[in-house]
Amino acid sequence: MSVVVVGAGLAGLTAAADLAARGVEVTVLEARDRVGGRTHGIEVAPGTWVDAGAAYLGGRHTALTALMAELDLKTTPTTMTGDSRFALGSTQTGDQTRPGRFPPLSAVALGEMFDALDELTGALRADAPWLSADAALLDTRTAAEWAAEHLRHPDARLFFPLFLGEMMAADPADVSVLHMAFYLRSGGGVRYLNAFAGGAQEDRIDGGAHLLCQRLAAGLGERVRLGEPVRAIHQDDDGVTVVTATASLRAGAVVVAVPPTLADAIDYRPGLPVPRSGERTAPGCAVKVHLVYPTPAWREHGLSGWSVNARGPLLSTVDDSPADGAVGVLTGFVTGGEAHRFAELSAEEQRERAVAQAARLFPGLPQPIGFHATDWVNEDYSRGCYAALFGPGDWLRLGPHLVTPHRRVHWAGTETSTEFFGLMEGAIRSGHRVAAEITTEITTEIITTHERRDIHV
Ligand SMILES: Cc1cc2nc3c(=O)[nH]c(=O)nc-3n(C[C@H](O)[C@H](O)[C@H](O)COP(=O)(O)OP(=O)(O)OC[C@H]3O[C@@H](n4cnc5c(N)ncnc54)[C@H](O)[C@@H]3O)c2cc1C
Repeated sequence: MSVVVVGAGLAGLTAAADLAARGVEVTVLEARDRVGGRTHGIEVAPGTWVDAGAAYLGGRHTALTALMAELDLKTTPTTMTGDSRFALGSTQTGDQTRPGRFPPLSAVALGEMFDALDELTGALRADAPWLSADAALLDTRTAAEWAAEHLRHPDARLFFPLFLGEMMAADPADVSVLHMAFYLRSGGGVRYLNAFAGGAQEDRIDGGAHLLCQRLAAGLGERVRLGEPVRAIHQDDDGVTVVTATASLRAGAVVVAVPPTLADAIDYRPGLPVPRSGERTAPGCAVKVHLVYPTPAWREHGLSGWSVNARGPLLSTVDDSPADGAVGVLTGFVTGGEAHRFAELSAEEQRERAVAQAARLFPGLPQPIGFHATDWVNEDYSRGCYAALFGPGDWLRLGPHLVTPHRRVHWAGTETSTEFFGLMEGAIRSGHRVAAEITTEITTEIITTHERRDIHV
C-alpha cells in the first residue's frame, strides 16, 4: 500500500520516516517551500542559527531525545545564570532586579494560584480530558472567567495572563478551562512546564530545532515534495486521490499532519463526520523576536537576560546566545493580544519598540546588530502558534474523534497527541502512533488477503 503524508512538520516527517523504514511507499506533500512547519531556523550571524519557532525541551521529552540521538543532534543548556528583570508595572513593585525567577509579587497569592491550577490539572483524565469528571462544566467556561472567579489577589490577576501567554501563547479569553488544565497536565504539570533547570525548557537543540526536520527530510530524499499545498482528499472504494495545486496522487491511505484549522480547509469527499476544529478554536498567537548584539552584554551586569513584563511588546525575554558566545541573542516573546497588536505594526515600528524596551530592561546595551521578528499569527500554513487553542465546547465535541481515522484518512500532528500536546514531543509521538496504526492496517490487510486465498485454494 502507498501512503501520502500531508505536511512536512515533525509529525508528518516522523510518520513518513517510520513508514519508509517498514518498506511502505510514501510521499510527503508540503505546502511551503521548506520543511519544518513550526520549527524554523534563521541565521542571525554567520554560522549562528536561532529558533524562530520551537526551541526548548526537557528530559521527559523522550521521543524527541531518541529522535535527536538517531539524527546525531546534541543539546545545549538554556543559559539562566544571573538576576532576572521584572517590569510588572504595579506602583508597589516598579521595575526590579531580583535573584532567581520568582517575580516581586505576593508569594502567597502566586502560590495559591499555582495550587488552584494544580488541583484543576490533577483532577483530569490526561488520556481523555473530555471524559474527566467535571469535563462538561470545565468546557463551558473560559480561562478568563475562571480567573475572575478564583483569583482574588491583584498580584495573581496580574500574573495569570502573563503565565498563560508564556506557557500557551494564549489569551485567557480564548481557551476553555478544560483546555488550559489539559494543556498544563499534558505537558507535565504547571511546575515542570514552567521550569528551566529540570523542566521543559532546560535545553535547546545545538544548531537549531529545524535540523530535526531537515535531517528527517534528507533521509526521505525525493519522497518529500515542497510547494504542494493539498486542497482535496477524495476517497472511493479502491483508494484515495490527493489533489494539490499542480498534481493528483493515488494512494492506499493518507496521513493529514497539519494543525486542525488547516486540516478543515481541505475538501474531503465523503465529508468529515466531525470537523477537526470548532467555532471557538483559536490560533495561538505569538510573534518571536530576536535581538542580536555583539556580545551577551547583560551578563556583564550580572543579569541572566530573563525578564517578565506586564507591558509589551516583549512580555518575556530569555538569553538564547550561542554556546560559543559569538554574539549575544536576546529572544523576546510577544504573546496573546499583544501579538495581534504587534503584528499590525510596520517592520520599522516593531524594531523601534522592541529595541527601546530591551534597552530599558537591560541598561548599557549597545545598539543591536540584528533584529528579526517572526510573525506566526499571519503564517498561512501555521495560522498561529504554539498550537491550536481549544475554546469552550471544543474538547467535548472534538476530543472523542481526535485520532479516529476517516476511512483511509489518518490524523497526526501535535494537536492529536494527548501526551505533550502542542509541543515537539507531542508531534513526534503522534507521528509514531499514526505510522503504527497504518502498519497494523497493512498487516491486517495482508493476513486477510492470504486467508481469502487459502479459503479459495
Ligand atoms: C514560536 C513558537 C515557539 C514554540 N516553542 C516550542 C518549544 O519551545 N518547545 C516545543 O516543544 N514546542 C514549541 N512550539 C510548538 C512546536 O513547534 C509544535 O508543537 C510542533 O513543531 C508541531 O509539529 P507538527 O508537525 O504537528 O505541525 P507543523 O509543524 O505545523 O507542521 C505542519 C506542516 O504542514 C504544512 N501544511 C499545512 N497545510 C498544508 C496543506 N494543506 N498541504 C500541505 N502541507 C500543509 C505546514 O506548512 C507545515 O510544514 C513552538 C512553536 C512556535 C511557532
